[in-house]
Amino acid sequence: MTHVVTLIPGDGIGPEVTAAAVRVLSATGIDFQWETEPAGITAIGEHGTPLPARTVESVRRNKVALKGPTETPVAGGHRSVNVELRKTLDLYANLRPVRTLPGVKSRYDAVDLVVVRENTEDLYSGLEHVVVPGVVESLKIITERASTRIALFAFDHARAVGRRRVTAVHKANIMKLSDGLFLDCCRMVARQYPEVRYDEIIVDNACMQLVLDPTTFDVLLLENLYGDIVSDLCAGFIGGLGLAPGANIGETAAVFEAVHGSAPDIAGKNVANPIAIVLSSAMMLDHLREHEAADRVRRAVRETLAGGDKLTRDLGGAAGTTEIAEAIAARV
Ligand code: NAD
Repeated sequence: MTHVVTLIPGDGIGPEVTAAAVRVLSATGIDFQWETEPAGITAIGEHGTPLPARTVESVRRNKVALKGPTETPVAGGHRSVNVELRKTLDLYANLRPVRTLPGVKSRYDAVDLVVVRENTEDLYSGLEHVVVPGVVESLKIITERASTRIALFAFDHARAVGRRRVTAVHKANIMKLSDGLFLDCCRMVARQYPEVRYDEIIVDNACMQLVLDPTTFDVLLLENLYGDIVSDLCAGFIGGLGLAPGANIGETAAVFEAVHGSAPDIAGKNVANPIAIVLSSAMMLDHLREHEAADRVRRAVRETLAGGDKLTRDLGGAAGTTEIAEAIAARV
């Protein structure tokens, strides 16, 4: 069976790492037909917008996309392509597994947790305005519908993969109404899953506890902003952003992309670590029910890293992006 998948190379290191992922996927023997579509800063020149309608339509049609990172200007300029894409396609669940990999020096052994982040609302609603000069209001939107939906996703995921505990991360001591509503929804959903332990932790304490010992956590359930920040924190436990995969999942489409951004500081140098997007493509294979191929890709990544001689610069090695892709592809 041929899988038709939208490929969004994106900006910065995006084209390099997505090419690496396509190389590894080609080694699985599974037939892919890629629809390559533009997004990000690189799309503006030709299409006049960072998220052309044809790109959204392609993902809508194919229901699955592999996406490189896209750049978002700081304090001005266009809105984030990621936020737009996630909202337009209602990709409400951001799933980010964080697992220790062999051969990678990091502060902890045996980290195995998953971040489940709400992807469509919170402070990412983009509702900001100047009240009077010198005073800005940013609206944090939390709804019962989105909070219940993401909590159901987290518990369903825990049940499906045999995880035992879901921890809701919040700041309801300060944001009593918004984070309070989020917690109410999590508690209500938790009652439907008696076999999964449920607890709650305030976000600042969660960061401290995570840094002390991330191995004590299982599934973290967070609103959009906390989920974004805690994801990068957790990537640090396993050796950095070059190793942290992710997926944006909705009812009708799914977009697979690494946690990292466009890394303009290393773009175009063939030094970016492609493993985060390669592991994201393994998640995509699982989504496409190609579980055996997904396992082969993950095993090939582990074997390549364990070998110790094929590591990118972020992991203390000197191998290039394409070299790593070839090494993984050879083991798939
Ligand atoms: P970043 O993730 O791009 O980079 C942070 C640091 O990690 C940099 O030092 C970078 O070199 C390193 N890094 C990231 N990915 C790496 C990889 N694969 N291999 C080796 N090193 C890697 O974060 P940033 O610098 O804060 O953001 C840069 C741009 O990316 C911004 O415009 C931001 O908006 C965007 N961004 C996009 C996404 C996305 O498209 N999903 C996610 C996060 C940030």
